Amino acid sequence: MFLKSITIKGFKSFADRVKVDFEPAITGIIGPNGSGKSNISDAIRWVLGEQSAKTLRGGKMEDVIFAGSGKRRALGLAEVTLTLDNRDGALPIDYKEVIIGRRVTRSGESDYLINNNTCRLKDIKELFMDTGIGKDAYSIIGQGKVEAILSENSVDRRELFEEAAGISKHKSRKEEAEKKLDSTEQKLQRIKDIIHEIE
Ligand code: ATP
Repeated sequence: MFLKSITIKGFKSFADRVKVDFEPAITGIIGPNGSGKSNISDAIRWVLGEQSAKTLRGGKMEDVIFAGSGKRRALGLAEVTLTLDNRDGALPIDYKEVIIGRRVTRSGESDYLINNNTCRLKDIKELFMDTGIGKDAYSIIGQGKVEAILSENSVDRRELFEEAAGISKHKSRKEEAEKKLDSTEQKLQRIKDIIHEIE
């Protein structure tokens, strides 16, 4: 699996639609300070489900929408799509090409999309779990992240290895199953109490 392209419109400094194709020979993006290089990695993080405005270097989520510049008025919608080549089947979905999208309006309406169908954030998270690509995964190492990893405690650092080893998905499913078991246990207890009262 690899990232084929990213399309950005109305996100941070990208007012007009911009498409970046990651052809095989492309290994980096260069540009003057403030030209929007980090905004591209923010866009990737955002479309993968980032919920923290701070991680995206903003104060509130609305800050990801183009806020206007000297010549241009602010926009009301931010939209980002990632196109991934999935010919190796690394993503557990029956498509050779997977397009992930997210959009948000200033009024707070928000959508996630997988291959143009609206979906839940949970679906996006599950799709990328254990692939190393999720918003917190090791494929996006922001400025200062290396230092943060080295100074993390062993429990936090272990999470990174678990993602790389491909066991995060099973851990998350185990947690979900334990929650369901717990709730079923409580319901059973309630039924037993009622039976006891009737007898
Ligand atoms: P450096 O090399 O200094 O790290 P960079 O190329 O990574 O810079 P970015 O940090 O990606 O640059 O872009 C910063 C620019 O994006 C700033 O000019 C900032 O005003 C602009 N910007 C950020 N958010 C918005 C927004 N919501 N609307 C319009 N412009 C924005």
